[in-house]
Amino acid sequence: MNNFHYSRASDVADAVRQIAADPTAKFIAGGTNLVDLMKEDVERPSRLIDITRLPLKTVEETAEGGLKIGALVPNSDLAYHPLVVQRYPILASAILAGASAQLRNMASTGGNLLQRTRCYYFYDIATPCNKRKPGDGCSAIAGFNRIHAILGTSESCIATHPSDMCVALAALDAKVHVMGSDGARAIAFSEFHRLPGESPERDSNLRPNEIIISVELPTQGFAKNYTYLKIRDRLSYAFALVSAAAALDLEGDRIREARLALGGVAHKPWRDPSVEAMLRGQSVGQAIFAHAADQLLRDAKGFGHNDFKIDLAHRVIVRALSQAAAGTAQSQSDKKIR
Ligand SMILES: Cc1cc2nc3c(=O)[nH]c(=O)nc-3n(C[C@H](O)[C@H](O)[C@H](O)COP(=O)(O)OP(=O)(O)OC[C@H]3O[C@@H](n4cnc5c(N)ncnc54)[C@H](O)[C@@H]3O)c2cc1C
Ligand code: SF4
Repeated sequence: MNNFHYSRASDVADAVRQIAADPTAKFIAGGTNLVDLMKEDVERPSRLIDITRLPLKTVEETAEGGLKIGALVPNSDLAYHPLVVQRYPILASAILAGASAQLRNMASTGGNLLQRTRCYYFYDIATPCNKRKPGDGCSAIAGFNRIHAILGTSESCIATHPSDMCVALAALDAKVHVMGSDGARAIAFSEFHRLPGESPERDSNLRPNEIIISVELPTQGFAKNYTYLKIRDRLSYAFALVSAAAALDLEGDRIREARLALGGVAHKPWRDPSVEAMLRGQSVGQAIFAHAADQLLRDAKGFGHNDFKIDLAHRVIVRALSQAAAGTAQSQSDKKIR
């Protein structure tokens, strides 16, 4: 591990000041991703700015009837928060599908958004990787790419974003509130993470001098008809091969509103508003759900080892929408369909 300085931020303004003064510094929250990356020599920050004592640990109702989640709220606290359980169970379900209880106790909301890809080559500093070292090449495209992306890839990178929580936040149309040297701004969740394009080293549109303050959920939580379905190699403690957050607002069997986001298939949670618009006004059923899957996956492309993800994603979408329509969400605590 590289030598680094350590300092503690006294408040949000101080955190911004410190990060703006040193572009090679990094914030540390739960440390569950950053410390691993530092041990592997993938991340080499000159300074760790400890933000764990900042007052960003509350979950509050907003004046508009939504919820504001502080960037330092631990993943466990969020998953079991009564307002999340009652009004946004898809978020609770997605969080509980991730990592392990111990990790969720440490992992923060902001850190979950900014966790880095699990591409094996990204972690292996002996192999070329454009995300780790721009211009170096991508070892995964012609290498072992079983866990890699099938949508939104580029010639520079085919990595996926590993978060479960972010897939639910995408489906819920969350907003990310940040503070930087130029003041505060809000970023729509769909604009927060990036596709790799020619600069895969950038995972998100957060500016180097900005800190995540909170994540805001709108009023609509789809608490009745939702599912977070995660397919992985092991039943727990494994990242998604493919996951889907499906949420429906139904009037009888007619779809008033639909949300569908996929995880494990792209560099960001994958959503396509045209597919959701197509579902609006339709009656629920296997045929329309299969059509939605066809549409969502119309540009999907495998790289050999991950070709299976295209069929798998199709089945995951149909099953997630069917479970959402039937109101039989998948429990992530006992791994059963309710
Ligand atoms: C073995 C293992 C299995 C896992 N399985 C899963 C899984 O199945 N699903 C899943 O979703 N996740 C999984 N995770 C990932 C885990 O959820 C993340 O490591 C965790 O959410 C990161 O949060 P943290 O607070 O520890 O972040 P840190 O490690 O502290 O930070 C991560 C990054 O975020 C930045 N950062 C943190 N907070 C802020 C902020 N407020 N503003 C700006 N930048 C910030 C840091 O600088 C760093 O770059 C797993 C992790 C491990 C180790
Ligand atoms: S897929 Fe992306 S992260 Fe993985 S080796 Fe290629 S450039 Fe690096």
